[in-house]
Amino acid sequence: MAKKVIVIGAGPAGLSAAYTLSKNDIDVEVFEASSNIGGMSRSFDLWGQRVDLGPHRFFSKEPKINNFFDEIVKDDYTLVNRLTRIYYKKRFFDYPLKLLNVLGNLSIATIFSILFYYGKQRLFPVRNPETFEKWVTNRFGKKLYTIFFKYYTEKLWGIPCSKIDADWAAQRIKGLSLFEAVWNAFKGNKGNKHKTLVDEFSYPKNGTGTLYERSAIYVEENDGVIHKNKPVQSIVIENNQCKGIITIDGEKHEADYVISSMPLTSLLKGMDSVPKAVLGASNKLYFRNTILVYLEIDRDDLFEDNWIYVHSPEVKHGRITNFRNWCPSLNKGKKSTILCLEFWAFDSDSIWSADDKYLSDLAIRELKVLKLINESEVVNNAKIVRVPKCYPVYEIGYRNHLDVIENYLDNIEKLIPIGRYGAFKYNNQDHSILMGILAAENIINNTNVDLWKINTDTEYQEDGDVKDVLIQ
Ligand SMILES: Cc1cc2nc3c(=O)[nH]c(=O)nc-3n(C[C@H](O)[C@H](O)[C@H](O)COP(=O)(O)OP(=O)(O)OC[C@H]3O[C@@H](n4cnc5c(N)ncnc54)[C@H](O)[C@@H]3O)c2cc1C
Repeated sequence: MAKKVIVIGAGPAGLSAAYTLSKNDIDVEVFEASSNIGGMSRSFDLWGQRVDLGPHRFFSKEPKINNFFDEIVKDDYTLVNRLTRIYYKKRFFDYPLKLLNVLGNLSIATIFSILFYYGKQRLFPVRNPETFEKWVTNRFGKKLYTIFFKYYTEKLWGIPCSKIDADWAAQRIKGLSLFEAVWNAFKGNKGNKHKTLVDEFSYPKNGTGTLYERSAIYVEENDGVIHKNKPVQSIVIENNQCKGIITIDGEKHEADYVISSMPLTSLLKGMDSVPKAVLGASNKLYFRNTILVYLEIDRDDLFEDNWIYVHSPEVKHGRITNFRNWCPSLNKGKKSTILCLEFWAFDSDSIWSADDKYLSDLAIRELKVLKLINESEVVNNAKIVRVPKCYPVYEIGYRNHLDVIENYLDNIEKLIPIGRYGAFKYNNQDHSILMGILAAENIINNTNVDLWKINTDTEYQEDGDVKDVLIQ
């Protein structure tokens, strides 16, 4: 029997699923809430140039993901040399760390303090570190934790590191000890295997969104349908089996399977007869939003980094992207520079509802504090983009709530939640793409690969060899 699949969301997860299904001649219909293709990984034209939503570096060692990239982007990519630094206490630290640069930026007293706390932690480690704070302190010692992790992490998540689950550290910085960091610094990071420190990456010449724009074209050329501006409101379930969806305008669409990359919490709200305990667990999960402030500066030589992590607590933003330093095709011959500053906020924070003028003035002021632009610098243009529910917050206890939800949804047949907010996983593009491909393959091959495990399994994080881990 021919299968029909509905996909909710036209981001990396949804479109990699739709692309894989289309390639296998399966009837696919995508429902996207917004007018955009690419979700948080979209690219768009701005002031005659091309930009992404903040920095979007693509990296994976998993062949399925790299094949997807190659098939779609073909030769239209370039290799970008990663140059990124950390700004802390009026100084710039190369990131990945370089020994001489670190030593040159820190006082002798601070260096001794780093070594003292590192040694102390080695002698008296915490046995089962459950929080981000304990996990990182265990590996690096208290002083390095404070300089390189605490302030940035607390800006990003909006809660103290002592309330963040160690899962987040385990996903992002597993295996990187002080010894490895210093050893890498000595070697100049050659041969460095650690995932967050890769210093060259493939980047589509017309922005990261190319991957998803082209996937959407492929789906449509192969008789798939993509509906934009069609938010899905509820899911039709009969006898524990998913039968289709209902859009916000009341249209009912039936399908053999529904793959959902809409927020997991909204998915559950849109389902009938969800047990109280599951809804209770869902109500405990929450997200952090991002405000992106784009500024066009009338100069082409501001600084060389692709992006800068701003750890200093005296400014509110946490990262600055300089699109001029990615690849010339983004600038389209223009002489000005587009910067993008990231501010993070909860729904209830006043900055989330601040107006555009307030936000652009704040961003300009903070760039001057960092001395990245002069007092007299000409800012041609400003644009604000608000991205809701960007980061699933891994607050202590979130894992228990997610377990309740996963167990419940595992018993609903033909409904497959995937993606960053779709599965409440702190995914990069590669994880969401892999979830999409494997969701489609589960349908095509009648298999049951456990998609909840993607981006949680440390072996996958380290070696990129997902097959051995998942298909047991
Ligand atoms: C500032 C920033 C920087 C990042 N940097 C990187 C990076 O360097 N490298 C990297 O790999 N990743 C990066 N990411 C992460 C990357 O953007 C995401 O991992 C990726 O886009 C997640 O894909 P997704 O499909 O799971 O979710 P999304 O991209 O969020 O797509 C979900 C889609 O579902 C749609 N939707 C939501 N609700 C509904 C509904 N009810 N009905 C229909 N449609 C709905 C949304 O409109 C959206 O289009 C970054 C993200 C941000 C915000």
